[in-house]
Amino acid sequence: EHLLTSRVLSMQESQTMRISGLASKMKAEGKNIVSLSAGEPDFPTPDHVNQAGIDAINAGFTRYTANSGIPELKKAIVEKFRRDNGLEFEENQIIVSNGGKQTLANTFLALCEEGDEVIVPAPFWVSFPEMVRLASATPVIVNTTLESGYKITPDQLEKAITPKTRILVLNSPSNPTGAVYSETEVRALMKVLEGRGIFVLSDEMYDMIVYGGVSAFSPARVTEMKAWVIVSNGVSKTYSMTGWRIGYLAGPKWLIDACDKIQSQTTSNPNAIAQKAAVAALTGDQRIVEERRAEFEKRRNFMYEALNSIPGFKTALPEGAFYMFPSISGVLGKTWGGRLLKDSADVAEYLLKDHLVATVPGDAFGAPENLRLSYAASIEALEEAVNRIRKAFS
Ligand code: PLP
Repeated sequence: EHLLTSRVLSMQESQTMRISGLASKMKAEGKNIVSLSAGEPDFPTPDHVNQAGIDAINAGFTRYTANSGIPELKKAIVEKFRRDNGLEFEENQIIVSNGGKQTLANTFLALCEEGDEVIVPAPFWVSFPEMVRLASATPVIVNTTLESGYKITPDQLEKAITPKTRILVLNSPSNPTGAVYSETEVRALMKVLEGRGIFVLSDEMYDMIVYGGVSAFSPARVTEMKAWVIVSNGVSKTYSMTGWRIGYLAGPKWLIDACDKIQSQTTSNPNAIAQKAAVAALTGDQRIVEERRAEFEKRRNFMYEALNSIPGFKTALPEGAFYMFPSISGVLGKTWGGRLLKDSADVAEYLLKDHLVATVPGDAFGAPENLRLSYAASIEALEEAVNRIRKAFS
């Protein structure tokens, strides 16, 4: 281990692995686990998307493609940005990568030097700080609260900026909190950054999974900041395509070219078959997106009521994505079922071992007093899970 680089050693090991490893083991032993730990939709990939993949194989579309993605897919992505997000990009401002994850990793590698700071509001998606560290830069974590809807304020942003600040990471709708920044909030944050040479990496992976009539407003719509905003998205969540590994990035051409260069020397093009399937997803019938969104909204409403009625649990109403992220500080520091629960990891372990509900502790998201529960599960499963959790804390 002493032979490893500081780059790797400075990365944190996933704290969620212990719980998810335990959950798999218990499942294999035949235990009736209800799992609310999934980071992916429980719906299948739509038939017409699968068919496009099958057609691609049958047509022999199984070789290297252009490193940055096939023109047909870039065209579909340009059209998607116009249709869903009110954004205009040229095809040469787009790169297709192996999942949203690779677009983000490429961006940090292209923009960060050692000593650079990247502002990451917490609670954050687990990979942001680790990717920043992998790029030799320093994540600057800014904590948000339930009271502010888990959103960073312009004042907090101003205070976090130093001469070394290179990027602000925004993830709206957010994994894990479900927070969605309104147009007004986005504009206020962009006002702080205007003219200061700081990039915004906007992770819009859940842009189409929003509730209560809100829509996710992209910071790239703020004209004064357009040249400084980089948008990451993908087909994983919207089209239930997590295993196909197609993500895409839009931004200034010079940055896209740099990501192209990095990708060409590391992974080459994303999977050819999956690119064809992604074209079908983005250009095909979009009604399925709305149907699934509506189903998620029903579950969100159920979970919001149900979790808030459990003493010690307090949750904001998520406006997007498919996670509840209640503060569970009300049950911490007490003994339940003979166990003293100090933090969310203890709670997740207790819920799993004694009550057979799999959740994800908030530690990994920079929020040790929260618990993440995914509602990418059937209403029946959610009801059962909530009953078990209620019992665990009564
Ligand atoms: N960004 C966020 C906020 C996510 O939650 C995820 C997946 O969990 C990703 C990016 C990565 O998506 P992909 O599976 O396309 O790499």
